[in-house]
Order: sequence, then structure tokens, then C-alpha cells
Amino acid sequence: MSASPRAGLRDLDPYQSPQPPTDVRLNTNESPYPPSAALRRELAEAVRRESLNRYPDGEAEALRRELARHTGHPFEGVWAANGSNEVIEQLLLAHGGPGRTVVVFEPTYLLHRRLAWIAHSPVESIRVPEPWTIRPEDVDLAIAADPRVVLVCSPNNPTGNTQPVAAVERLASATNALVVVDEAYVEFGGKSALHLLGAHPNVVVVRTFSKAFGLAGARIGYCLAAPEVVDDLRRVRLPYHLSALTQAAGLVALRHAGEASAILAEIRAQRNRILAETPAMGVETFPSEANFVLFRPPKPAMEVWGGLLERGVLVRDVSDSVPGCLRVTAGTRGEVDRFLEALAEVMR
Ligand code: PMP
Repeated sequence: MSASPRAGLRDLDPYQSPQPPTDVRLNTNESPYPPSAALRRELAEAVRRESLNRYPDGEAEALRRELARHTGHPFEGVWAANGSNEVIEQLLLAHGGPGRTVVVFEPTYLLHRRLAWIAHSPVESIRVPEPWTIRPEDVDLAIAADPRVVLVCSPNNPTGNTQPVAAVERLASATNALVVVDEAYVEFGGKSALHLLGAHPNVVVVRTFSKAFGLAGARIGYCLAAPEVVDDLRRVRLPYHLSALTQAAGLVALRHAGEASAILAEIRAQRNRILAETPAMGVETFPSEANFVLFRPPKPAMEVWGGLLERGVLVRDVSDSVPGCLRVTAGTRGEVDRFLEALAEVMR
């Protein structure tokens, strides 16, 4: 007998972006810089000291204490999981569910609506027009949907713009929804909503080690929230969800946080170079406060994507969510050189 899964599941493809082998990978907004030799050495030593025959600390207390110190947020309101994706999934497991509407403002990170669906929640999508800044009338629509969770991404992926903190604040005061602000890119620019948390215990800020910390492979994300929100996450998390290896990596990375901030300026400089140099090729670009740039070439996005790939440069085709557009990650100077040369050729 074959078992069939829940209705709609097989309409979804597994979430992944095309990863054809290529020289210059600017498609998933990672950091182009590997962790320092010192960090890797300390990590190897930390892993050697672990007793892997035993389960890890199920509360990841040491890591959360260091995150509290790093962010200045009280320990009781700090939570960590396997990437910010898992944090968001856990928030949705705790606050979503049948009949509990989740609002997303689109275009945005596609996983938000997918995770809401996986958590069996109805999704209300509010389409925000270009330049994709959430307007008061979009907030009105969100409030009218009577949501239990509202997801805001700021800076927004794939558009790069920051969302107004005032919109987050109004959502937090006019609804009793959990207002989740995905700040995966906030270290690169924009304004954090973290200061709202004192007056609005229904605001949660979600962050990651995958972008500015340069540790996408380690899978570490965290959120800053009110203590009761974290208590509820402890109720939905799997036992020992964060491996001893992950906890060790997070602790070592926090000891080297200074190295991570030192490269932010260089990544921003490369992002600004893309913004400065592409308009002369007839390509429309959109302001970005993140480590990537959304751009709209005068030719079909798919054709440009293929032309860049032929020249060894992989970017992301996001034309399904933003018509005609592609997204490129700010890499090293050399990688951005390659991208700009390839784009100029494709545009000729
Ligand atoms: N949020 C946004 C907006 C992202 O773009 C990404 C990565 N693509 C994530 C979250 C997921 O990051 P993580 O690796 O922490 O799961």
C-alpha cells in the first residue's frame, strides 16, 4: 500500500535554489569570506573537547548566555536553533495552526509562506507594490486579516529595502499577533526593530549567523523576544535540537564576532559598486541595505541568468516573485569584477 501525504504537499518542490557548479557563486547571499584560521583552530579544539557520547545541553544555555551578552538582550528572551529558518518554523509551530492566520508582505523570502503552510496555518499574502516599502494601507489590510502571526522581513529579501519600524510598531500595537521581524541582513544596514520589544512583548526579532557571521554551513540562528515567547518555543522544540557541534561553533563564532564586523564594510562597498556600475549598462537596480542587489535588465531575466552562468557567474532568478528581476550577492572584489564584466557582455 502506498501512503499519501497531506493535501497540497506534492504541489511543492523541495525548497532549494539551482546550484549548477560554477566559479562565482552569488546566488544565496552567503558571506564570500571563510572563517579565519584562528576561528577554525578554536572550533576544532572545542569539538575535540566535546563528549559526543552524551546528549548536548538541550537548552543551549551557554550559547544563549553569550548571545544575550552579544546583543544586550536578557537571557530569558534569547533563543537559538538550527538557522533562522528553524527559529521561524518553531515560532509558527507555537503561534500558527489551523484557523490561525499568518500574514506575509510579498514579495519577500519565499520560505515564510512555506513554513506557515507547513505549520498548517492559513496564509494571507499582502502584495506590496514597488518600491516594496510596507505602506499604512498595507498595515490596514494586515490588521483586517485578524492575524495570529505577521512576518516582516527587514531588510527585505529579495528587494533589499528596509521596512519602516513604524509599520512593525503599528502591527504590534493594533493586533495581538506575534509580529516576527526577520532581520537576517540587519548587520549590513537598515534599522532594527529590537527597541520595540520593551513596549511590545509580541515583537520577535530573528537573526542568523549565516550572512554577516559567514557561517551558513554551521546552521545557527536566534531570536530575541519576550521571555514568555521563548518559554513557548521550548515547548515546541525537539529535544536536543541544537547539536553539541553547533553550540560549540556558535560560542567560538561569538568570540570572533569582531572579525565578522570587520568585513561588513567591504561587503557593503562591493554592494555599492554593483549599485553604482550597473545603471550605465541599461540595467535598473534597486537601493539595498543588505548584502545583495535586486536588478532588472532590459532583457528577459532567464536569458540574462543563462548568459551570466555561461560566463561562470551564478546569480538568482527571482522573476517569479519580482517580474523581470534577478538578485546578485555582494561577493569579494574579484567576484564582483567577474559579475560586472559578465553582465556588461550579456547586455551588449
Ligand atoms: N531569512 C531570510 C530573509 C533569508 O534570506 C534567509 C537565507 N536565505 C534566512 C532567513 C535563512 O537563514 P538561515 O541560514 O539562518 O536559516
